[in-house]
This record gives sequence, C-alpha cells and structure tokens, in this order.
Amino acid sequence: MNDIKRMTRQRKKILEVIKNTNNHPKADWVYDQVKKEIPNISLGTIYRNLNYLVKKEKIKKLNFGSSSSRYEGNSGLHYHFRCKECGKLFNINIDIGNLKSINKIKKESKFDIGYHRLEFYGICSDCK
Ligand SMILES: [Zn+2]
Ligand SMILES: [Zn+2]
Repeated sequence: MNDIKRMTRQRKKILEVIKNTNNHPKADWVYDQVKKEIPNISLGTIYRNLNYLVKKEKIKKLNFGSSSSRYEGNSGLHYHFRCKECGKLFNINIDIGNLKSINKIKKESKFDIGYHRLEFYGICSDCK
C-alpha cells in the first residue's frame, strides 16, 4: 500500500470511529478503537489526522477547561451537558426556536460573532 492510500484509510477509520459515537471521545480513546483494525497506527498519527479533520471541518474539537480535548462528529447544532460526578458529556438538542435571542444578539450588537458556547452542568441520571 502506498503512503497516500494508507493515510486515507487511517483517516477514514478515525472519522468513522468519531461519527459512530456520542461520547465525545478524547484522542486516546479514538486511538484504542482504531488500533483494533489498524494495529500499527501511532498516537501521533491519530493526533495529526484529528487536527486535519478539524481543519477540514469534518469533526469538531471541544475544549473544556483543563482536561484534554474531546472530539465529535455530530455536526448538527446542539449544546452540551456535563455531569459533575462522572464527567460524561451529553448532547442537548434544543429547539431552534430558542435560538432567536442569540440571533438577536448578533443583530443588535456591533460584533461580528462567529460562534458561541453554551454549556450546562449538573448531575446526570446515572449519577443521581
Ligand atoms: Zn454522571
Ligand atoms: Zn456534542
């Protein structure tokens, strides 16, 4: 297999792993999953491909405070809920109608707002 083909295969697998989970995985989790199919892949390759996929906007990189970055393949608009007990990150899909106020902020402020963040914290149903 030539280099380009190998790269493509690795990248495809990484993308597939991220698209198929709702867990907002960290790089080392992705590494463990991809390794099952491509045993000789290195963590460095995983990071390189993750960065590439983020740059190409195939996946999103999420940063939460001091913990290492998480990645996700769900490109739809949604927010996150983080459990203070187990640290898990959940998707919250909210009705688009509730975003009116955010559009209003965009319109009425003089700022060219590119994106916004909104995060919810509490206790998940498993930890309750
Ligand atoms: Zn929890
Ligand atoms: Zn998410």
